[in-house]
Amino acid sequence: MTANPTRVLVLNSGSSSVKYQLLDMAESRRLAVGLVERIGEETSRLVHTPLATGGARRVHEGPMADHDAALKAVAAELAADGLGLDSPQLAAIGHRVVHGGLKFTEPTVIDEVVLKEIERLVPVAPLHNPANITGIRTAQALRPDLPQIAVFDTAFHTTMPEYAARYAIDVATADAHRIRRYGFHGTSHAYVSRRTARLLGKDPSEVNVIVLHLGNGASASAVAGGRCVDTSMGLTPLEGLVMGTRSGDIDPAVTFHLKRVAGMSADEIDELLNKRSGLVGLCGDNDMREIRRRIDEGDKAAALAFDIYIHRLKKYLGAYTAVLGRVDAVAFTAGVGENAAPVRAAAMAGLEGLGMAVDADRNAVRSDEPRLISPEGARVAVAVVPTDEELEIAQQTYALVTA
Ligand code: ADP
Repeated sequence: MTANPTRVLVLNSGSSSVKYQLLDMAESRRLAVGLVERIGEETSRLVHTPLATGGARRVHEGPMADHDAALKAVAAELAADGLGLDSPQLAAIGHRVVHGGLKFTEPTVIDEVVLKEIERLVPVAPLHNPANITGIRTAQALRPDLPQIAVFDTAFHTTMPEYAARYAIDVATADAHRIRRYGFHGTSHAYVSRRTARLLGKDPSEVNVIVLHLGNGASASAVAGGRCVDTSMGLTPLEGLVMGTRSGDIDPAVTFHLKRVAGMSADEIDELLNKRSGLVGLCGDNDMREIRRRIDEGDKAAALAFDIYIHRLKKYLGAYTAVLGRVDAVAFTAGVGENAAPVRAAAMAGLEGLGMAVDADRNAVRSDEPRLISPEGARVAVAVVPTDEELEIAQQTYALVTA
């Protein structure tokens, strides 16, 4: 008798990249992780780490024409570790899908109808959904017999009340073009808010958490009793916080001004706000390490960029405190949130009136573990909670196929 399959392959397919992880859900461990970058270019690169065998990281460079070539290369790497995708131990493939619109509120078994619906959402996620679809089709071709599960970035935010999700614009126009606030990074906000509750020894239903996902992309969410009630990203991942290269909140009239006065096209404005704004637009760097280094050397542009970044964070902390009414915890996560102690200290400075503060010694600790950084007995628990979107996708995928 063969045991039930317990492995899940998680695929995060971008327009020119595929990130992957193979996990064993019964043993709660990662068997392999990797990344293919620059797909479609001459300089494609695959980096594979075979955790199960404890072997060294393997790097392959050379052209990979498309996602099919990339996924076949990944499959070959896994097979070399004895973890081939043809293994009967593989239970399912879980796909990160960025935009699920209003339709997908839960992880979903992918069939042709579901794929059509994901395709129908391409106009609201032109950069992401096509790549996700390509990843799914490629994986389906490789293992047509296997359940393929879509886990949506937007799903966690579908609980937002209508008054938080709607923009105050003409309803007919908004509805005709599906314009509303969807929110992103939902898998991370879901994982981190639950993990924060566990850190406090509570059930998610008992706590109100503000999650600050601060990576290159950044978003905040207000989570009341385990349900998202507001989040900072909107129709697209451009709204909200100051990010590595994105402006976040901006007066929409800036775009008309750029068109009418500066003569820029819609595509040029899109590129400006998404790629040449945020920290990089303000000071030329988007890596918080570099920005801190420049501030230490007395660089004024870096210092101003940092202050603008922090000011926006504070505004969202205040707003979500008001939205939630009672805040039990603030959780910092992702690249900046997990690693940049100065960002956490600056964001919390002066918020004692809201019951929020960080203890300098606790904040200075470096660790991969979830931890509290607020002073003993603080009204609001301030925490650093490393996110794990792949684990969350794997768990949701496995839960669905074993249900
Ligand atoms: P992505 O949105 O690309 O997934 P990540 O969550 O990996 O981003 O975050 C990447 C960002 O994290 C980097 O651009 C950098 O600003 C920041 N970061 C990473 N490590 C550190 C560190 N040790 N100190 C400060 N910032 C860091």
